[in-house]
Amino acid sequence: MEALQDIDVSRHLETLYEVYDEIENAYNEAARFYDFSCQGCEENCCTTVFYHHTLIEYFAVIDGFDSLPDELKEEALRRAKDYVKELNKFRGKEPLLKRFCPLNFDGLCKIYRHRPLICRIHGLPGFFKHPTKGIQQFGGCNRFERLKNSSREKLIDRTKFYTKIATLESQLRRDMNYVIRFQKTIAEMINDRILL
Ligand code: SF4
Repeated sequence: MEALQDIDVSRHLETLYEVYDEIENAYNEAARFYDFSCQGCEENCCTTVFYHHTLIEYFAVIDGFDSLPDELKEEALRRAKDYVKELNKFRGKEPLLKRFCPLNFDGLCKIYRHRPLICRIHGLPGFFKHPTKGIQQFGGCNRFERLKNSSREKLIDRTKFYTKIATLESQLRRDMNYVIRFQKTIAEMINDRILL
């Protein structure tokens, strides 16, 4: 594997951020259709344990993290360490852990432009046409399901987003000669930042 500093991920990241913009547009269009917003939500998606599975999204998170002021980085790193300690007690039963992502400060994501796909798309129902497993459907978040009675009139088609990100991931892994499975929470990404 090449050393991290030898890899130029910037062109891959530029493409990823274009895909993120497309996701944002699709999400906003569906949110308008349902007249749905996160405002006033008493739960917070940022307390859900999400694992992220792509290196390219790891680099986007780190890109966002690195642009934070030093004092925020230090605080996020401190929180990430505590988070991972706690997460280790909940391996295999992650849904039981409700703890804020270390990058959420006062209810706001500090890497909003860089946040991963699942943070963007989790709230509204959608589907993915898997090349071999057929169609996979996703419900909305708890609030959506409660307020909209599991309405499925407008599903976000995640297929092209997943496909574009998968293509980017393959290109990046080829460039890096990286074959190891990737699965990390945001806290683990920050905590392990120097280890990759
Ligand atoms: S990255 Fe941002 S949006 Fe995603 S869980 Fe963390 S704070 Fe929330």
